[in-house]
Amino acid sequence: MMYAASTLAWPLPALARPLLDDPRIAKQPIADKGFASIRKIGDGLYATIADRSKGLQARCNGGFLVGRDAALMVEGFQTITGSSFQLETLRSVTQVPVRAALNTHWHFDHTLGNSVYGGAGIPIWAHIDVPARMTAYYTKWQSQDLATYLAPWEQRVRDAKTDSQREHAKSDIEGLTGMFKPVSEAVLALPNHGLDPATMPIQIDLGGLTVVVEAFIGHTDTDLIFRVPDQNVIYTGDLLTGGQYPVNINGYPTRWRATLAQFAKFDQNTLFVPGHGQVMGLEGVAEMRSCFDDLAEQAEKSYKAGAPVEEAVERYVIPDCFKNYRLFSWGFGIGRTIEQLYAEWSGKPVQILNYS
Ligand SMILES: [Zn+2]
Repeated sequence: MMYAASTLAWPLPALARPLLDDPRIAKQPIADKGFASIRKIGDGLYATIADRSKGLQARCNGGFLVGRDAALMVEGFQTITGSSFQLETLRSVTQVPVRAALNTHWHFDHTLGNSVYGGAGIPIWAHIDVPARMTAYYTKWQSQDLATYLAPWEQRVRDAKTDSQREHAKSDIEGLTGMFKPVSEAVLALPNHGLDPATMPIQIDLGGLTVVVEAFIGHTDTDLIFRVPDQNVIYTGDLLTGGQYPVNINGYPTRWRATLAQFAKFDQNTLFVPGHGQVMGLEGVAEMRSCFDDLAEQAEKSYKAGAPVEEAVERYVIPDCFKNYRLFSWGFGIGRTIEQLYAEWSGKPVQILNYS
């Protein structure tokens, strides 16, 4: 097989060289459960970094921000084990009230552990459209069974015209199963407070610590970032990820690339807590942009050569520099991105991989 299989465990990479001596980043975590560890990355700022090679209880990164008067938590994780770990660790640091738990977007691996926060009386804040998205997909899935859900995708495997198409279609089934199962096991807790992009940027004063909330489009249409301008620290959700192909299951590649171009203009000293992968600086933004560039360049070659979109999707070759990248699935990491670019370039409708 030419591409990285998503079932393999991927150990968390070390910090990039420029960050090894960054005085903001504590050398030791304050808590470590294997599936995630939590460390200080600034004054009152903590990053929860998931390590999927040791379990998917957290699956995404997160963190918390502690001011004199109040605290904020970031992300609901994939399970209540993940969100409990973060809440307990926050409580080991401070007893100030938690003003809110923030979801960066609606995806299962950032929201399924929300019920812990709801149970603790902590309001859950997210982009105003998050509850509608979660209901449209996840509430619906909870009334279905996996076999019924997967039936059209199994048919797609049988209809494949080439070996590579067949393998790629199988990888999509693996990715979809990895979403459906945790959703079917979870008690959903929807955000109960919507943040409206029309009112952004929103400033939240925690007492000596100001957090700015901003909306960007890219990974989904509900992406928020949480920025601490005084310390150049940003929690980005999946708009920025490390060590993996952009997960484009609900994305907008062109606007996503524009968002990353904006991220590249942040202060040189910016520390990013990405949605997945290790804490990074601007070098991480540049790396993700170059991955998108490669997808676009290879797709453009096929497009200019007159190759139909299905062929362009199969022709894509993972370059050596991204050989170790994790791939959610071929269709939702690579295929859907190329399909959307084709649709833009041709100005004609193209079949775009979708699930619901
Ligand atoms: Zn996501």
